[in-house]
Amino acid sequence: MYDKIPYKIYLEENEIPSAWYNLRADMPVKPAPLLDPATGKPLTFEQMQPIFCDELIRQELDNDTPYIDIPGEVQDFYKMYRPSPLTHAVFLEKALDTPAHIFYKFEGNNTSGSHKLNSAIAQAYYAKKQGLKGVTTETGAGQWGTALSMSCSFMGLDCKVFMVKVSYEQKPFRREVMRTYGASITPSPSETTEVGRRILAEHPGTTGSLGCAISEAVETAVGTEGYRYVLGSVLNQVLLHQSIIGMEAKTACEKYDIHPDIIIGCAGGGSNLGGLISPFMGEKLRGEADYEIIAVEPASCPSFTRGKFAYDFCDTGKVTPLAKMYTLGCDFIPSANHAGGLRFHGMSPVLSQLYHDGYMKAVAVEQTGVFEAAELFARTEGILPAPESSHAIRGAIDEALKCKETGEEKTIILGLTGTGYFDLAAYAQFNDRTMSDYIPTDEELEKGFAGLPKV
Ligand SMILES: *Cc1c(COP(=O)(O)O)cnc(C)c1O
Repeated sequence: MYDKIPYKIYLEENEIPSAWYNLRADMPVKPAPLLDPATGKPLTFEQMQPIFCDELIRQELDNDTPYIDIPGEVQDFYKMYRPSPLTHAVFLEKALDTPAHIFYKFEGNNTSGSHKLNSAIAQAYYAKKQGLKGVTTETGAGQWGTALSMSCSFMGLDCKVFMVKVSYEQKPFRREVMRTYGASITPSPSETTEVGRRILAEHPGTTGSLGCAISEAVETAVGTEGYRYVLGSVLNQVLLHQSIIGMEAKTACEKYDIHPDIIIGCAGGGSNLGGLISPFMGEKLRGEADYEIIAVEPASCPSFTRGKFAYDFCDTGKVTPLAKMYTLGCDFIPSANHAGGLRFHGMSPVLSQLYHDGYMKAVAVEQTGVFEAAELFARTEGILPAPESSHAIRGAIDEALKCKETGEEKTIILGLTGTGYFDLAAYAQFNDRTMSDYIPTDEELEKGFAGLPKV
């Protein structure tokens, strides 16, 4: 069916979109607003101002404007690593002996190694334009912190990163990349914030969590003059910036007459998946086309498939606004053997609403199966995928194997969000056969749900 198209589709530089697409404009039911935990009322622009940059708040609140221009400086930066290729995974197809056609949109071709740079540069740009001195953030595995460090150094902003302590210790190389780009890195929980000191007092010896690092970054931004907090996923604005992935993919599909039936992405906070599906989902919502859209998440952190659709904090320290999302409860922490990333307890409110309204599906997969998929992908397509991305690969392989049974010639697009060079400890566990799977029990999940705020 696709014999005549190139293995790797590269768009021209002038085909990089000049506007982001705001999927919310086409949603029949809009995502629920962020709430002030103190009053239970929607947060106003003014209330968000101490935390976020002004222009980013406008984007966060804008449910109506379908296209938002990408500033010229951000477009210029995108040219360093975009357009990203859409590759026809012919070698993987052959290994699977499937009639399905598999394409992947590869976002790992930059130093941060992931799609996160697409939003980091936009956020750094708006902070700089507002005249701020710097930004604070958290990072878990380190991709977001790296992307933000690169963006801040390009824009001439200071960057303070709270890095989950276990990653800080286990991923010293990631830390050095960030420092090379001029960021300062603090292991979290730390003694530098009130919430960090509280968490350390309550849980001495804790190795930290993303939720705790978020609390520290927010506190530092609010308490430091000329600083704001930025977040690499979950928020509406981040999905907006990530729409560039889907728009490029759609342009490539139109140019080469590719008709996807299924679009698959991994889901941590939902930003890459939200970005990849944006223009396709827009068509679906407007009734112009239909696609099967599948989120793949870890069985050990199953926000979509086993979470509750409820208002919850985005962090463990409960300092952030409340977001309505599929959540396992902000106190949920994946089991200690979990190595595959995607460990956030919640999910993007945009994707949560779409999932709730039946526009997309979700599946949960176990990590040994994820690494088997990663290994097959590395051996056939040559790219060493990030564990996060490998969830999408697992999902795509499972769909392709279903096609093998039914003989259907479906076209699948998957989001290959990044590379796995800093995740080799997890690969080592897989190669040594010491990696195990863990699925939380209902009782364990109930503990997380019990802590949900009453709104
Ligand atoms: C952060 C990250 C993810 C998950 O985040 P989303 O917001 O769900 O996209 C997936 N893949 C890679 C490589 C990442 O760095």
